[in-house]
Amino acid sequence: MPCMFVGHGSPMNAIFDNTFRKTWQAVGKNLPRPKAILSISAHWLTRNGTKVTAMEKPRTIYDFTGFPKELYEQTYAAPGAPEFASQTQQLVSSVNVSLDFGWGLDHGTWSVLLPMFPRADIPVYQLSIDYDRPPQFHYDLGKELRELRQQGVLIIGSGNIVHNLFLMRTGEKPYDWALEFDQKIAEWIEKGNHQAIVDFRNLGELASMAQPTYDHYLPLLYILGLQHDKDKTEFFNVDFDLSSVSMRSILCR
Ligand code: ZN
Repeated sequence: MPCMFVGHGSPMNAIFDNTFRKTWQAVGKNLPRPKAILSISAHWLTRNGTKVTAMEKPRTIYDFTGFPKELYEQTYAAPGAPEFASQTQQLVSSVNVSLDFGWGLDHGTWSVLLPMFPRADIPVYQLSIDYDRPPQFHYDLGKELRELRQQGVLIIGSGNIVHNLFLMRTGEKPYDWALEFDQKIAEWIEKGNHQAIVDFRNLGELASMAQPTYDHYLPLLYILGLQHDKDKTEFFNVDFDLSSVSMRSILCR
């Protein structure tokens, strides 16, 4: 099964008829049908541990404020994947992964899946991001999940390679530093230089501008860890939103 990093940007991309959403629709049509989808979303950060959702029917979570009513009326009623959740828990040996019954599908997950798999008939579960851990941890944990690809699980990391909400602006070109960081990461992805991507904070000021809180960057590290040497990487939605949010997405297969 391929694996994918998706730049999700604004929750409005779930329903707004723009090029980002159109590309998600096209990508979904061209993927093999997975047995389950595991989403690693920037919007599920946990402390002191990694969790995996194991409920039968995950709820749709509206983890945003101030958006139009239409967005709150969307639901993504995909079934959960409790068996795959247990399997994922057993697969990881470096840390204890606990089963979770309280979360659901946050907008990092459903805003992307709604256009990509509109029928919502493929089981979906989420893995949390332990925000107390350093970047290297997330890359290594991604490696441990590789086996799931063989099992027919589509793993999606959902975040943004550049994500600075403090400096968002409308109707203007991307910032130079945003373009530079995005380019640098893309170049390293193409060269397979994963260690430089993990150690992105070595870029100093450029990294803190592009990723002041780096929660949206961490899902990328899981997807890079999941890559096999033979995988080819393709980019899609290579563009910026609001000058400081990179929508660059990566399909590995
Ligand atoms: Zn987000």
